[in-house]
Amino acid sequence: MTTSAEIIEVSEHRSAHNYHPLPVVIHEAHGAWVTDVEGRRYLDFLSGYSSLNFGHGNPKIIEAAQEQLKNLTLTSRAFYHDQFATFCAGLGDLTGKDMILPMNTGAEAVETAIKVARKWGYQVKGVAREQANIIVMEDNFHGRTTTIVSFSTDPDAHADFGPYTPGFKIVKYGSVEAIREAIDAHTVAVLVEPIQGEAGVLVPPDGYLTQVRELCTEHNVLMIADEIQSGLGRTGKTFACDHEGVVPDIYVLGKALGGGVVPVSAIAANRNVLGVIQPGQHGSTFGGNPLACAVANAVIEILNTGEFQARAARLGEVLHARLGEMVGNGVVTVRGRGLWAGVDIDPSLATGRAVSKALMERGVLAKDTHGSTIRLAPPIVISEEDLHHAVDQLADAIASFK
Ligand SMILES: *Cc1c(COP(=O)(O)O)cnc(C)c1O
Repeated sequence: MTTSAEIIEVSEHRSAHNYHPLPVVIHEAHGAWVTDVEGRRYLDFLSGYSSLNFGHGNPKIIEAAQEQLKNLTLTSRAFYHDQFATFCAGLGDLTGKDMILPMNTGAEAVETAIKVARKWGYQVKGVAREQANIIVMEDNFHGRTTTIVSFSTDPDAHADFGPYTPGFKIVKYGSVEAIREAIDAHTVAVLVEPIQGEAGVLVPPDGYLTQVRELCTEHNVLMIADEIQSGLGRTGKTFACDHEGVVPDIYVLGKALGGGVVPVSAIAANRNVLGVIQPGQHGSTFGGNPLACAVANAVIEILNTGEFQARAARLGEVLHARLGEMVGNGVVTVRGRGLWAGVDIDPSLATGRAVSKALMERGVLAKDTHGSTIRLAPPIVISEEDLHHAVDQLADAIASFK
């Protein structure tokens, strides 16, 4: 199988249809550019849903991975290994938290945060057994496990996967009042995306995160920030919560933490919270493995320079200025922060999928989300020139439907 057409045909026939990919078959990638099997080049404006913030084949990250591959790849947590302490201390310092619990995928980290919050509720807050509830948001995306899809409001994600896990209250995103009304004596946590990525890069009203933080503190409820997609440089800060100077009780991290090389996720929290977990109560065979830690250690080193955060902020201004000019010109609204944008295409003109395809034909890979929204999130290494080029192509793609 060598041509795109052959590979797509067999992929469609022999894989479950849980994704609807654009018809492009990628063979290699460097920085912000990917090349397909026929040698066509595209700018990557998805970045593996922000897993590739530091670029495809980032030399520092690849070198760390290659070095580690030669030495040690897996021990399981039955033993210590020499990358582990640096990872926990480094990520702890980056988040300002005492302790780390490493997992692999984002969904596992969210599950970890849920388990920790419940246990904290029973053991520290004194919530009655089996009564804990967690407040979550409408249009959330936290992953695909049975518990997480139990509180999804997306019919595709939720329907026919019951019976559902109880213990969650769903409230309107962006409304502090809705959380205040939902909090009761059994509430152990509020789980929130500081910016809702999958929902279409929805930025909550100014002051929302600050007020959620205050409300959580007032009611002795843990604030859990799912920064899996919004964190690690994407928005122009290390964490999206930083835009309001808000510090959650639990950070949930994933995606870019693995540098686009391996799945690495973790939660970070202080000892009074994460200290509730004792041996045997939670774990993962691969969580915190040496290869994952070595890669994440390179990612943490990169983030510690602040270089990528500053670059995302600067290029983000360029991106949003350009996209702002398109409003009224086939574009209804643009949202986002840093090098991250949700673009609502005029639905009378074309679907997000149709625009994504037209964009692909113009050498830019982006993905629609929810009907007429396109999400733009190039690797932060992208050059300003390439950024302008991609926006030109977006304008041209939209114009082609007029
Ligand atoms: C992607 C994502 C997840 C799930 O991560 P996986 O690695 O796909 O399990 C959870 N929360 C948010 C906000 C995400 O964007």
